[in-house]
Amino acid sequence: MIKKLAGLIAIAAIVVACTTNAITGRSQFKLLPESQLQQMAVGEYQSFLSSNKVIPATSSNRDAEMVSRVGQRIVNAVTTFFKQNNMAQELEGYQWEIKLVQSNEANAWCMPGGKIVVYTGLLPITQNEAALANVMGHEVSHALFGHTNERMSQAIAAQYGGSILDAFMANKSSAAMRNIFGSAVGMSSQLGILAFGRKQELEADRYGMIWAAMAGYNPEEAIGLWERMQAYAGGGGTPEFLSTHPGPERRIEQLRKYLPEAMKYYRPVSK
Ligand SMILES: [Zn+2]
Repeated sequence: MIKKLAGLIAIAAIVVACTTNAITGRSQFKLLPESQLQQMAVGEYQSFLSSNKVIPATSSNRDAEMVSRVGQRIVNAVTTFFKQNNMAQELEGYQWEIKLVQSNEANAWCMPGGKIVVYTGLLPITQNEAALANVMGHEVSHALFGHTNERMSQAIAAQYGGSILDAFMANKSSAAMRNIFGSAVGMSSQLGILAFGRKQELEADRYGMIWAAMAGYNPEEAIGLWERMQAYAGGGGTPEFLSTHPGPERRIEQLRKYLPEAMKYYRPVSK
């Protein structure tokens, strides 16, 4: 009986799985309730922090202080944008946190619900605060536009089926689900089990530039940033950001197309 019930819940979830994003206008396949995903994120975030070295954002560590400052400005920009578009309710479950962790990986991510982590290994590539703002804007966009949910839903539909979804609905985080979550968020710089969609990456680039501009950082820095990122990836590292793009030239070309739109939001701030 319980099994049957769970099956029905899964079917109901699939029926409502296709939604259109109000900002991007893109139709998305999402199986997981956002609130439950955010709840799972809190647990995964805590477990990540307890097994990694967090650098406190004090005046004695300028990098951590910078990450915290840039992140907060991005969060403020996003909050303003959503309010202006009458979508403040979309951010209701968000409890933003911004951390810098010690790691040689060139990586950063944002979980659904607003937990943002930057790895120290990313800073030699960002090189300046405006470029960092563009990366953080990119990562925040993945969370805001439900990309984690989309990636997980794809993996569940393609590889796992209903049982894993039933367990999730019953609030049991199976090892498989945690693994899918980690890959979907981009917590590992290795290519995970998920294919990251090109559309999602370009969406994150485009809105990342807008958040950065609204936060007072030049969105044009995104171009130099992704060029450095590609040079880095050519050396053997594969950050999440680069896993799907058709080619370096194509991405830069897209960034240039997005630039005039982002520039409309750009109000430089004095530091
Ligand atoms: Zn990305």
